[in-house]
Amino acid sequence: MRRPIVAGNWKMHGSQALNRALLGELEGQVKPEWPIDVVVFPPFVYLTDTVRTLEEGHILVGAQDVCAESGGAFTGQVSASMLKDVGCTFVIVGHSERRRWYHEDDSLVARKFAAAVSGGLRPVLCVGETLEEREANMTEAVVGRQVDAVIALHGISGFAEAVLAYEPVWAIGTGRTASPEQVQAVHAFLRHRISAHDAKIAAHLRILYGGSVKAGNAAELFAMPDVDGGLVGGASLSADEFRQICAAAAVRH
Ligand code: PEP
Repeated sequence: MRRPIVAGNWKMHGSQALNRALLGELEGQVKPEWPIDVVVFPPFVYLTDTVRTLEEGHILVGAQDVCAESGGAFTGQVSASMLKDVGCTFVIVGHSERRRWYHEDDSLVARKFAAAVSGGLRPVLCVGETLEEREANMTEAVVGRQVDAVIALHGISGFAEAVLAYEPVWAIGTGRTASPEQVQAVHAFLRHRISAHDAKIAAHLRILYGGSVKAGNAAELFAMPDVDGGLVGGASLSADEFRQICAAAAVRH
């Protein structure tokens, strides 16, 4: 059985005071005995404070992005080894907001994935289609291409440590969630794609769904056989919503 993950992507929200208040509530509400991994992804500047606040606790910390280079003259960038150094376990690569607003293409995402693995982090690789692509029946072609780019550069081995997140772009931050059946179909496709390279890695790979996950829809999404938890944006900023999503994942296990 794959251990579900609930990941809270805070995006560019929060402040030291707000984060500490949110983490204080979360630590009390998300029970350590729940058989799930819970990870929060604050902005870079709050990573150290978040790690310290959660020290000794059961909630893990990840970063929202990483530089593809391992170090050097890259002003403004943060390397995987730096993220590891301050206590991160996971890092998101290929989020659709980065692909869209910062023009990150498949090859850069693949390099970031490789940098994360080499730096000792677990990448959360985001893939997903736009509404136009879904309507043109291109969903499988798009997510397949996004995964293949990583395999082409790094091989399949990195997926032994990685997490995959299916995030249809049209469902992120829109309040419009993909149906459980739509999600299951894409997750099964992705697992099959990985399986063509390594059946064991595919069987163990955790594939998260992201796109307007809320307390009200988490249980039906997590009930799907190939859905191993969620990457949660907006709802991760409310301790109560996030706790309910975690509880739904814990029951699914
Ligand atoms: C996300 O940020 O990855 C996300 C899925 O956001 P939301 O839950 O707000 O749609």
